[in-house]
Amino acid sequence: MKSRRQRRPTTRPLGRVASHFTREGTPKNSYRTEAEARGAAQLAWTLNRVNLNAYRCDYCHQWHVGKRLRDD
Ligand SMILES: [Zn+2]
Repeated sequence: MKSRRQRRPTTRPLGRVASHFTREGTPKNSYRTEAEARGAAQLAWTLNRVNLNAYRCDYCHQWHVGKRLRDD
């Protein structure tokens, strides 16, 4: 083959898609809509008083909830 593409690593560095995975390395729950993700975040607050943030994931293009990366 003439045009050989640059080989990509099969395993990406986790840091780039950290928002897709939990700290344990398993994929987070994903939600198809922002409303669903926000609902889940609100439920977490109601149940556990955990302040979660709904965000769209660059990796799977769905929505996740997670702790805020920065405080305010
Ligand atoms: Zn994701």
